[in-house]
Amino acid sequence: MNIWNKIINLIFPINCLYCNKENTYICNNCLQKLKQEILPNQSHVLSYKNHKQLIHLLKYKNIQSLKVPLGILLNEYFKKNIDPNKQYILIPIPLHKKRLKVRGFNQTQLIAQEVTKLNKNIQINTSLKRKIHTKQQVKLKKQKRLQNAHNIFYINDISLRNKNIILFDDVKTTGATLNSAKQEIKKLRPKTIKVISFLK
Ligand SMILES: [Zn+2]
Repeated sequence: MNIWNKIINLIFPINCLYCNKENTYICNNCLQKLKQEILPNQSHVLSYKNHKQLIHLLKYKNIQSLKVPLGILLNEYFKKNIDPNKQYILIPIPLHKKRLKVRGFNQTQLIAQEVTKLNKNIQINTSLKRKIHTKQQVKLKKQKRLQNAHNIFYINDISLRNKNIILFDDVKTTGATLNSAKQEIKKLRPKTIKVISFLK
């Protein structure tokens, strides 16, 4: 570390979230250990309880460099959970454009993009859109313009027909968001849809 980096590190210390090693948010040792935690036959990469700070730093503290280790971990999940002889389309859950404007990036899409650099079986597709801002949803419900309050996404990409789809969100809470998106994508008659989250 040069003197300037030392000063920066004193003012804004960066330490491994797991072992406190300096100058990195996840050191290589801890990244290797995290890979061991990823199990086959799960619908999430890591547990929310033990790892919520990973997504929190990316999403709310704007630490976009975390997309790289998170992409590595998501790829590790795919190595254990998808058929290496098939091609998959990875669809990140979108933000509403108003929220995207405020945050400046979609954390779920950033992680998904990283994984496509590492895994030739996976392509990203961003044609899923969020048609209702959370605030508007209440308004629309009152006006009875929506038959279903969970009907918050739209997609119209016929290239997804007969494809293997993986729908991806950063955090799964109730599952309502992922389920709503899944129902919308189903209309395009893909071959399979797998629904996963980074944390659950
Ligand atoms: Zn560490």
